[in-house]
Amino acid sequence: MSVIVLVEHTEGTIKKKSLEAVQYAADIAKKLGTTATAIVAGNVAESEMQNLGNYGAAKVLYIGDNRLNQLHARAFTRILVTAARQEGSPVIVALHDVNGRAIAPRVAVQLKAGLVSGALSSPDMSDGFVVKKSAFSGKAFAFVNVTSQVKVVMLAPNSFPLVKGEGSAVIENLTVAFDEKDFGVTVQSVDQITGEIPLSDAELVVSGGRGMKGPENWGLIEGLAKELGAATACSRPVADAHWRPHHEHVGQTGGTVRPNLYIAAGISGAIQHLAGVSGSKTIVVINKDPEAPFFKAANYGVVGDVMEVLPRLTEAVKKF
Ligand code: FAD
Repeated sequence: MSVIVLVEHTEGTIKKKSLEAVQYAADIAKKLGTTATAIVAGNVAESEMQNLGNYGAAKVLYIGDNRLNQLHARAFTRILVTAARQEGSPVIVALHDVNGRAIAPRVAVQLKAGLVSGALSSPDMSDGFVVKKSAFSGKAFAFVNVTSQVKVVMLAPNSFPLVKGEGSAVIENLTVAFDEKDFGVTVQSVDQITGEIPLSDAELVVSGGRGMKGPENWGLIEGLAKELGAATACSRPVADAHWRPHHEHVGQTGGTVRPNLYIAAGISGAIQHLAGVSGSKTIVVINKDPEAPFFKAANYGVVGDVMEVLPRLTEAVKKF
């Protein structure tokens, strides 16, 4: 019996959010007195798979079929269902992302498992299997007790701290009897890179709103982001006005980020925006209006004009 976890990669490089998922699965496995098994499919180097041992995987089940470099929802469902049955898995972990959304519900149906999406922390097993998740666009938390025998948990990226340890994973081949139809549905996920860092993986994010006045001032956001090694993001009206591309827009209708630091410059802090950023560990708000709602969600606030504050902040960061 082991907890299995689906690992995602981009052209053979395992994604940071999947390392989090492996660590999360290992944590659940430890609580259940068992081990975690990572499922890797497609063209991935042995060293990448071995590295999963450093994040708590005891075993890697590998299926090196080149068709699996692309995400075929049915094929990946069959892989997870096969692996779960083979391993007698009580818990299956996937990510709460575009891929996980396509696969995890299918797996749950086939295994007659309860599913919880958007998990934010390791389940509390003192009385059941209680998973914390966000509800009402990040306004509240829900604690969901999954009572089915087999459970599927979709972990929200950037919600489980990543700590590299030292360990080793045994790599074994997984054999799956595919049907041609398994390759009929392809899910395409494109990681857009803003500046140097992909927004979904970023630990630091500098974000701008309508208070930036126009695209001509975005150099101030990019300058600070460059100094910090951060990704850039924006509010929805900014993307709607084509000041920034839509893949940078965060919030209820955009991306969700959970970085260690989210700097919001000239953003009012509407509930729809907060839905995408409220999981950030530290929020710094720069706004000229002391009544801006974002200050209520902020750890640190600067009441001031972004045109003055951002250059000074960038200069201060340069000195470190
Ligand atoms: P504004 O509300 O115009 O705020 C600009 C802020 O900048 C103000 O607080 C102002 O005080 C400040 N400011 C102005 N000039 C300066 C200056 N010189 N220096 C410092 N501060 C300054 N929004 C999202 O962001 N993401 C979403 O996913 C999203 N989804 C939505 C879904 C629905 C169904 C709806 C109805 C709305 C959605 N919205 C979303 C829009 C949301 O309600 C807000 O309208 C939007 O977030 C406001 O963007 P903003 O803060 O950039 O602009």
